[in-house]
Amino acid sequence: MIRQTPHLTRRAFGSLLGASAATIAAPGLLRAQTAGRLVIVGGGFGGASAARFAAINYPEVAVTLIEPQTSFVTCPYGNLILGGKRVLADITHSYDGLRARGVEVIHDRVAEIDAAGHAVALAGGGTLDYDKLILSPGIALRWDAIEGYGPEAAEVFPHAWIGGDGSQITTLRARLEAMPEGGVFAMSIPDNPFRCPPGPYERLSMVAHYLKQANPTAKILAFDAKEGFSKQGLFEDAWAELYGDMIEWVPASADGRIVRVDAARGLFVSEFGEEHRVDAGNVIPPQYAAAIAREAGLANDAGWVPVDPATFEALAARDVHVIGDANVAGPMPKSGYIANSTAKTAVVAALAEVTGRPAWDDPVYFNTCYSHVGQDYGVSVVAIFRPSGDSFAAVPDSGGLSPRGPLAELGRNRRLEARHADAWYDSITADMFS
Ligand code: FAD
Repeated sequence: MIRQTPHLTRRAFGSLLGASAATIAAPGLLRAQTAGRLVIVGGGFGGASAARFAAINYPEVAVTLIEPQTSFVTCPYGNLILGGKRVLADITHSYDGLRARGVEVIHDRVAEIDAAGHAVALAGGGTLDYDKLILSPGIALRWDAIEGYGPEAAEVFPHAWIGGDGSQITTLRARLEAMPEGGVFAMSIPDNPFRCPPGPYERLSMVAHYLKQANPTAKILAFDAKEGFSKQGLFEDAWAELYGDMIEWVPASADGRIVRVDAARGLFVSEFGEEHRVDAGNVIPPQYAAAIAREAGLANDAGWVPVDPATFEALAARDVHVIGDANVAGPMPKSGYIANSTAKTAVVAALAEVTGRPAWDDPVYFNTCYSHVGQDYGVSVVAIFRPSGDSFAAVPDSGGLSPRGPLAELGRNRRLEARHADAWYDSITADMFS
């Protein structure tokens, strides 16, 4: 199904193509996919959702998904591995379901985008042309942001903020298990914007849940580069009630910003120069859009991609739609739910021109972020957004937060929310991979 690309030249992709400038030969699909070709880069929350939605609703379009990993490890529910409530296999998903729906899945990395020529070059060699491109490559970590923190130090102080092959989250769990009795678990949390605003605080809850049983005199220090966080009241209530004073959250104004780490000596160093001894460390560095989006010239100075809020077309390139964490989403959180919800609008907008079918003239984007705060306790925040001018805005009086109050009164509600969270995870991953 991968066509010759007569408009593609070796010059368009610089030296990358080299001797392998020929287009790739891949197995063909038998369906009458004559209307055009949609290429999707990244098989995570945005990309897999887009591929499945396009394959089901636009059988006349050839859909190709390019993703280097042969299976996808979700970040959502990764924190539950730390809490002992899930194992890696529970959060690992195959691409076979998408293949069965007729999506051509290529396990490779897109090395370069030629937006003017409507083609992408693959790291493994060869090129693919497209009529429309959807890019959902997620985030990259800013290795330059915290002195001493890079890929090597991340083996000692894992970030566990990108699913990858699952090794980061399992290493973090191993570090937790290896803590000495009464030891210190420390987390460095970035300023906004970053992937999954409530994620660090759910992680603190799950770490506390584990330590309360396995190492009850341990201490958790949460160093934050901000002054406040998502669902703060709900988290702090749960921490006080379930874990006593085990978790200490340190905001930026109380010297919470970590600026240097020393993995060999087991140290976190704060902005005002204080050294903290750490037995198990989790560094979540500042982030920006994944390299492919930045290197294609789509990103702003902060490293995120500005998009049209009704179509997700990148402002810097026609026919390239950028969804998921990589884009500038205004008040919308960088969440899997938003990636999934916006993926559908992006597909409809991108394929309107290709198929002659209508676009949605009043798109709506949904988000619910559940967080597990204890063994069977969940809390959530819900919001609905619409395009607003050149950005997005929350729909007035939509959404809300779980109620606050003691577990004696709200235990049933919290247990129900934990079950809703499990159902959310099952349904969103089915909407991506089944
Ligand atoms: P991803 O899902 O990361 O997918 C990007 C994919 O692109 C990757 O598979 C990558 O391999 C691929 N890729 C990158 N570069 C290239 C390239 N050059 N060529 C080809 N492929 C490429 N969200 C929720 O809604 N609910 C939750 O409960 C929740 N919990 C979370 C908990 C944690 C600990 C974390 C870290 C995140 C959580 N999130 C949650 C956020 C969610 O994981 C992200 O918002 C979501 O993954 C974003 O989707 P995406 O498609 O932008 O990126």
